[in-house]
Amino acid sequence: MKTAFLKCGNFYRGNLHCHTARSDGRLQPEDLAAAYRERGYDFLCFTDHNIYTDLSGNSTADFLILPGMEINPPPQPGNDSEFHFLALPGTRRDREAATLPPYVHGQELRLQARHDADYLQSLLDDAHARGSLLALSHPYWSRVEYDQVLALRHLFAIDAYNFCSAVIENAGESFSCWDAVLRRGGRLWGLAVDDTHNFYPLNAPGNDAFGGYTMVKAASLSQDDVMEAIALGSFYSSAGGPEIKDFYIRDGRACLLCSPAERIYFSSQARQYRWLIAEQSGNSLTGFECDLRGDELYIRAECYDERGRRSFTNPIWLSAEDGDGASDATGS
Ligand SMILES: [Zn+2]
Repeated sequence: MKTAFLKCGNFYRGNLHCHTARSDGRLQPEDLAAAYRERGYDFLCFTDHNIYTDLSGNSTADFLILPGMEINPPPQPGNDSEFHFLALPGTRRDREAATLPPYVHGQELRLQARHDADYLQSLLDDAHARGSLLALSHPYWSRVEYDQVLALRHLFAIDAYNFCSAVIENAGESFSCWDAVLRRGGRLWGLAVDDTHNFYPLNAPGNDAFGGYTMVKAASLSQDDVMEAIALGSFYSSAGGPEIKDFYIRDGRACLLCSPAERIYFSSQARQYRWLIAEQSGNSLTGFECDLRGDELYIRAECYDERGRRSFTNPIWLSAEDGDGASDATGS
């Protein structure tokens, strides 16, 4: 049996990408945190541009504040392609393996206007050596191609959905880039994030909060447990779609359990893989199970509600050398 989620724990809702008045966001960190908390979120990571924010001391028992930063060199004149990386807190293991001092609150990066592979890799190497977990932001918005992603080391995840890019520039969906990476064996988890800037008020059509989030199944709401679960891929991502309850492979069959959905899709490297669509309009599907073909490199699942809002899992890897997925890593 291979499972997408840790066996034990609870699901926690969070946004891993937001900006405040410390860079180009409009709200103060405490006001943004309060807005997410009121909306029922369990955690929020502050990721202002090139300035590290650690307000984790303001975490409470029911709301976790994660330290972080978005690392992005200034645009390079004449080059539309630019790279932004989320530096999230690493796991305890990442911190113990660090060979450079960790970032501290208020630390600023002075970066060159370069987006060539050597320079980008040097930034990733430095952040990795400080114990960070690194994700690529919004490749579609950034005009970044899958082969450029595959060439970079130390990434653990990629934005598949970025709500700010979707609302503000109609460029939020990077599923095709993520899938192209997966098909070629690149092992990146897929994120949905807000990338909140609050360019528009929270109740306006241009609001960019609360539209892309991760649901992390973790042992507790501590930073170490949440980051351990995220690093393992024990989460699903959502743009307001159905709740995903479980996703696993057992006895040669893939199985997704979810709250009522209208369409469920499994995808792998193969074309026209597997799907189930409700016979009538309205949410009527609460799961989908099917046989594997036997040649899958991986399987991931997506489901949509009747309004077209989607949720998606991470891939479960199926090659012989792979273990049992997230459940394997805990020994539980
Ligand atoms: Zn951002």
